[in-house]
Amino acid sequence: MGQDRDANTLASQASSSPLGVYVHIPFCEKKCFYCDFYSLENHSQRGAFIDALVKELSLFGEKYGRRKADTIFFGGGTPSLLTPSELGQILSAIDSSFQISENLEFTLECNPGTVDTAYLSEYRSLGVNRLSFGVQSFFDDELKFLSRIHSAEEAVSAVDKARHAGFHNINIDMIYALPGQTTERLLENLTRAVSLGTEHISAYSLIVEPGTPLNAAVEKGEITPSLESTEMDMYEVVMEFMEKNGFIHYEISNYSRPGYRCRHNLKYWNAEHYVSFGPSAHSYLDGQRWWNVSSLATYLSELNSGIIPVSVREKLTHSQLLDEFVLLHLRQGFLNIPEFAAIFSASIPRSLIAELETAGYCNYDGEMIQLTKSGFKVSDEISARILSRISSPT
Ligand code: SF4
Repeated sequence: MGQDRDANTLASQASSSPLGVYVHIPFCEKKCFYCDFYSLENHSQRGAFIDALVKELSLFGEKYGRRKADTIFFGGGTPSLLTPSELGQILSAIDSSFQISENLEFTLECNPGTVDTAYLSEYRSLGVNRLSFGVQSFFDDELKFLSRIHSAEEAVSAVDKARHAGFHNINIDMIYALPGQTTERLLENLTRAVSLGTEHISAYSLIVEPGTPLNAAVEKGEITPSLESTEMDMYEVVMEFMEKNGFIHYEISNYSRPGYRCRHNLKYWNAEHYVSFGPSAHSYLDGQRWWNVSSLATYLSELNSGIIPVSVREKLTHSQLLDEFVLLHLRQGFLNIPEFAAIFSASIPRSLIAELETAGYCNYDGEMIQLTKSGFKVSDEISARILSRISSPT
């Protein structure tokens, strides 16, 4: 009983804050061979998708009332394929179903290969105030390896066009630890990324996701992924470089200039509430998590019948909430021990914290565990160690 009450405390704390709204645009010009996000190269159902999305937003408003929201994030897929008129149509539906805060962070993901200068200005007029570009590399051979449709020059030009269109909050995504990539190349990529002057940089190592053509090539022995030790060494290079260049490392793969953390993504990482629309989109609201079907055909047919196209819905248990709290906070590099104890009525042995400190993984000031660079490198392992030694009242 006590445990349920504590878990509900977390859920109700989150429910008093405005929501994040995510919209998944399931189309890409060409599928990248490492990507496992749900997106299609066939755009023939695009008009039907926008109509269905508008319907999904309206069904949400009818079911939950006009909840407050203060972040909107269009991801995918490739949202920059949307015409301003399509974006406007979706935004009207969002406006009808949510009370949108004045202080809105509104991000749209852009593929540098599909950027239209006129579109950017119109996106800005429609209220988009943050862009996120999937740059990935400044070497054309690396971009070719990743099967990206853009060149390094197009990536630079896309950010330049965004500045001219009036965007002052821009992220670029980078990928490192490509097979055979050298540290020199990594540093050159980071130098060029930082010199673009964007407010935010996300840097991910190349992950071989199951079911992707990259995975098939690895299984056939055509591609040899980087060793885990190389990846960890490169991660350390990234952390040091970004810190030296004035960026705050605020999540395992995310770095921002002061004042430019991504508020929308922070909602995921702080277990706050968000609702998502479009095929494969995940939501978390009022202690429940659900995700939509990962099939455009099913998404369209269910909405045509007036059904919200949810694939799975689950109520989070005390133990799931606790696990996620520890994991997500440590991925941000910290864990507030009194806050954790107050929410979950559980404690972490001092002896374990001392072990982690001695190993050089964290600093502890009596209240807050703060990960060091070595700690960031093994944050999921540290979470597992903590979770195996938590004691809760029976
Ligand atoms: S553009 Fe982005 S979403 Fe589309 S296939 Fe490539 S990585 Fe995936």
